[in-house]
Amino acid sequence: MGLRKPIIAGNWKMHKTNREAVQFLREIEGHVPADGVDTVLCAPFTALSDLTRAAEGTPVQIGAQNMHWEENGAFTGEVSPVMLRDLGVTYVIIGHSERRQYFNETDETVNQKVKAAFAHDLFPIVCVGENLEEREAGRTEAVISGQTEAALKDIRAEQCARMVIAYEPIWAIGTGKSSSADDAGRQIATIRQVVRDLYGSETADRIRIQYGGSVKPENIDAFMAEPEIDGALVGGASLKPDSFLALIEAAAKERK
Ligand code: PGA
Repeated sequence: MGLRKPIIAGNWKMHKTNREAVQFLREIEGHVPADGVDTVLCAPFTALSDLTRAAEGTPVQIGAQNMHWEENGAFTGEVSPVMLRDLGVTYVIIGHSERRQYFNETDETVNQKVKAAFAHDLFPIVCVGENLEEREAGRTEAVISGQTEAALKDIRAEQCARMVIAYEPIWAIGTGKSSSADDAGRQIATIRQVVRDLYGSETADRIRIQYGGSVKPENIDAFMAEPEIDGALVGGASLKPDSFLALIEAAAKERK
């Protein structure tokens, strides 16, 4: 039995009202396996309060899609790690490409948020990935290695071992055009090598690295069959109970 339990995280993005979010949880809760896979739903802030309450006693954990790194202060419109913990949120997506692209997220703010997540006992799911231009210029490895190193600045080995990295090639997000499983496996091996170089093999063997980008029930088996891939960060296919459950079931068979 390997060290790494698969993790499937739904990233709902800007979808679902509070009522729709709780309804979704009610529909899936009786079908989510209690063992073999970690199941996380990353919901809009407005649904987190009711959703964490609804998820109590179920195997589903609740995540946020972003946060500020300060505990409080004059940051209009922001939400802090303390506020998330207070609700019982356990995961937080950091550095999603949409935040990097549309909301000024940088490698530096990603690192500040990763540090803040650990300071407040939240598990970060850190997203890295190249855009099409970078891929075509042969810069994929350099880009994802650089983003990974920047995210991990001043993070200790035991913290690194507990975080999740999501390799999400930007050209594959929401496009229906997923990466091939073996290419995703290769890029994830590159990310794991960065971790090995920084922290050694024990940490590299423990950190979970997901693939994300047009994952759906039809292609999850191929991704999960790759020894390097520890699960998926899923947008579109996480919005419907049936397809989300199919992904969880597929992942539950594949401990690494
Ligand atoms: P997608 O989104 O599954 O809809 O491609 C993935 C993501 O952005 O995390």
